[in-house]
Amino acid sequence: MREERDVPLAALTTMRVGGPATRMVTAETSDELVDAVREVDDAEEPLLLLSGGSNLVVADAGFPGTVVRVATRGIEVEAGAERGAASCGGVLVRVAAGEDWDALVARAVAEGWAGVEALSGIPGLTGATPVQNVGAYGQEVAQTIASVRTWDRRDQRVRTFANADCRFTYRHSRFKGTDRYVVLDVVFQFEAADLSRPVAYADLAAGLDVDLGARVPLADAREAVLAQRRRRGMVLDADDPDTWSCGSFFTNPILGEAEFAAFAGRAAERLGDGIRPPHWPEPGGRVKTSAAWLIDKAGYGKGFGLPAPAALSTKHTLAVTNRGGATAADVVALARQVRDGVEDAFGVRLVNEPVLVGLEL
Ligand SMILES: Cc1cc2nc3c(=O)[nH]c(=O)nc-3n(C[C@H](O)[C@H](O)[C@H](O)COP(=O)(O)OP(=O)(O)OC[C@H]3O[C@@H](n4cnc5c(N)ncnc54)[C@H](O)[C@@H]3O)c2cc1C
Repeated sequence: MREERDVPLAALTTMRVGGPATRMVTAETSDELVDAVREVDDAEEPLLLLSGGSNLVVADAGFPGTVVRVATRGIEVEAGAERGAASCGGVLVRVAAGEDWDALVARAVAEGWAGVEALSGIPGLTGATPVQNVGAYGQEVAQTIASVRTWDRRDQRVRTFANADCRFTYRHSRFKGTDRYVVLDVVFQFEAADLSRPVAYADLAAGLDVDLGARVPLADAREAVLAQRRRRGMVLDADDPDTWSCGSFFTNPILGEAEFAAFAGRAAERLGDGIRPPHWPEPGGRVKTSAAWLIDKAGYGKGFGLPAPAALSTKHTLAVTNRGGATAADVVALARQVRDGVEDAFGVRLVNEPVLVGLEL
């Protein structure tokens, strides 16, 4: 276990903002992770868990407590590694929380483990993926997670949750919005296959020149996803400030039927009668709409805010970016302006996806 003091957090987050942590402990095994968390909890001090830092905006004042940095390693195939094992429950792989997510996806593609290929190029570590049920291009981790092993800080014991008990929904799970659980490792149940899961995203199908629902070689799916993500500034690139972000800053709103009808009415009033906002059916008669569309149509186009140090990505309206030199206050001020502007224009309140530490929108 490594311990440091006064550690600047900006360099450990993809948004590149945030002051120092009073203390930082780096845990390299699950036991160390539990011990580090227990020690802070026993002392009743503030604790922040930090993985890849790609979904965190930390205040300029920093974090007045201990940051426990997850650096645990280990990928263990538990069953079904031989190819063609699909018929007997697929391939079960236990992955430590600190394993790099995209490296795991690359390995899955190379091994013939289908189910996460559309989640290529997402930054961060594996233990954070169940927290917000990471998703993109028609896939989400909830579709391949078999179970999540956690340290329960409240009950002070290890608890394993089967998929059905993780309460996965769109960008949410029982592990989000609470500090109670520390994810120690995740068991994935992949399909043993050289072909992707059916392509479930229209743009991806178009990029691959196949119909929705088709299956393509795993490597082709990964390459097509990475190509689309790069065009949208959604693959980290040290030379491209459009990627110095937390990815999407807002989730896509899910509205009740009446709420959606009111929103569609306001959109038609504002933009013209023929305009119907993009929408997709959700369970329970609810409707999902596009945050990127709302932001754009409310007048915050790509690059909005430039040349200020915090501006929307020039490739995607959903990403609030740090062009270099932005403070956390700048980032939050821009996000607030966009959220409030969308609400004024359309009556829909956007909700932030990244976790804000010591900050409010
Ligand atoms: C360019 C870019 C593109 C992105 N694209 C996508 C995308 O397509 N889809 C998507 O869903 N997300 C996307 N994201 C957001 C982000 O990458 C994911 O949410 C990722 O899973 C966060 O992982 P992390 O390791 O960086 O977590 P961190 O940012 O370190 O932590 C995020 C939150 O999870 C908590 N946490 C971290 N590790 C653990 C653990 N082991 N146990 C319990 N809690 C933990 C932290 O305390 C914090 O509250 C993108 C981000 C960027 C910068």
